[in-house]
Amino acid sequence: MNLHTKLPSIPFIDVVAQRRRLGSAIDAAVARVLDHCQFILGPEVKAFETELAAYCGAKHVVTCASGTDALVLALRAMGIGPGDAVICPSFTFCATAEVVALVGATPVFVDVDSTTFNIDAKGIAGAVAAAKQAGLKPKAIIPVDLFGLPADHRAIAVAAKAEGLLVLDDAAQGFGATYNHRRLGTFGHVTATSFVTAKPLGCYGDGGAVMTDDDGIADALRSLRVHGQGTDQYDNVRIGLASRLDTVQAAVLIEKLKIFPDEIDARNKAARRYSDRLGDVVTVPVTSHGSTSVWAQYTIQVAEGRRDVVAAQLKAEGIPTAIYYPTPLHRQQAYKHYPVGKGGVTVSERLASEVISLPMHAYLDVATQDRIVDAPRRALKK
Ligand SMILES: *Cc1c(COP(=O)(O)O)cnc(C)c1O
Repeated sequence: MNLHTKLPSIPFIDVVAQRRRLGSAIDAAVARVLDHCQFILGPEVKAFETELAAYCGAKHVVTCASGTDALVLALRAMGIGPGDAVICPSFTFCATAEVVALVGATPVFVDVDSTTFNIDAKGIAGAVAAAKQAGLKPKAIIPVDLFGLPADHRAIAVAAKAEGLLVLDDAAQGFGATYNHRRLGTFGHVTATSFVTAKPLGCYGDGGAVMTDDDGIADALRSLRVHGQGTDQYDNVRIGLASRLDTVQAAVLIEKLKIFPDEIDARNKAARRYSDRLGDVVTVPVTSHGSTSVWAQYTIQVAEGRRDVVAAQLKAEGIPTAIYYPTPLHRQQAYKHYPVGKGGVTVSERLASEVISLPMHAYLDVATQDRIVDAPRRALKK
C-alpha cells in the first residue's frame, strides 16, 4: 500500500513556511535597500553587525560573503599560513579543512566524540605530535559545533592552552547555541559562522560573519574583506579578498534575527519530540556540558549496518533524509594525504556509516513528526 502518495510532501527544511511568517517585513526591508542603493557595506550591514554582537556577546562582528570566507578571513587574520598545522575534525563539512589548505597551511585530522559528534579533546595532543612529526608548526585548532551541538569548549581551551594553539570555532551550524550558559561566538579566539540559506540563521543566498573580542584581529578582518585596505580601498597594506555581506542580505538577516530565538525554541521542542519517540530504537543526539543546541540537523545513529534499511523505509514513505557526512575527510580524495592524529579517527569512520539526519526546522508540526517517527520503527522491526 502506498499511503504517502496521498499525504502532503515533507520538506527537509522549510524556508517557505518561514517566508510566509516573515511576510511583508522582509519585502519592506529589501525595498528600503533598493531605495537607498547602498548595496555594498550599506547601513544595514553595520546595524546587523551591532545587533549580532549584542545577541552573542562578542565584542566585534565582521560580516562577509560566506561561512567559508569567514573561516579564511579568520585564519588570515590569525596569521596562519604555509608551514603551519591546523587541527580539525575529520567528521565535518569539508569547508572546515578546505580553508586551512586555502591559506597554505596543513590540516591535521583529529577524532570526534560519538555523543556530541565534535572534537574529542583527548585526541589533541596526538594530533599535535603528528603535526610535529610531519615537520609542521602546530598553530591552531578548529572545533566545529556540528549539527548545532556545541563542542566541549572548556576541554578544548585547556588542551589548546597546553599546546599553545589558537582556537577558531567553526560555528556555521551551531550559531545561536549555548555552552555553559553563554552563546557561541565568544569561545576561542575567533568564531566563524555562515548565513547560507540552509543554516539555522540563514539569509536568501550566501553570507557569513567572524566574531572576536580581539581588537587587532577585528581590524585585520575589516581590512582583509576589502582587499587588505589601509586608510582606504586604494591603500593596500595586506593581501586580502573581496568578501562582504550584501546589504540586501543584511536587511533580510535583521528581520530573521528578530524571530531567531523563537525559532530556536521551536527547534528544541521538535528535537525533544523526536528524542522522546525514537530514543528506544536508535541512538538519539544529546546535548552535554551544560549546553543547548540549535539543531541545524537532528541526527540519529543506526548501528549494525541497518542505517540503509531505515533510509530506504523513510524514502518509500516520502520522508526526506540526508547523510551528513557519508565520508570522513581523511578518506576524501582531496584530503587523504594530510596527517591524522596519533589516536586515529575510528569514531569518525563509524559515524560516517551510522548517521542519518531527519527533517528539522522551526515549522515542523506534531502530525508530521508522528508520521516521520513511525517509519524508523517500522524499518527496524522488519
Ligand atoms: C556550511 C558550513 C561551512 C561553510 O559555510 P558556507 O556559508 O556554505 O561557505 C563551514 N563549516 C561548516 C561546519 C558548515 O556546515
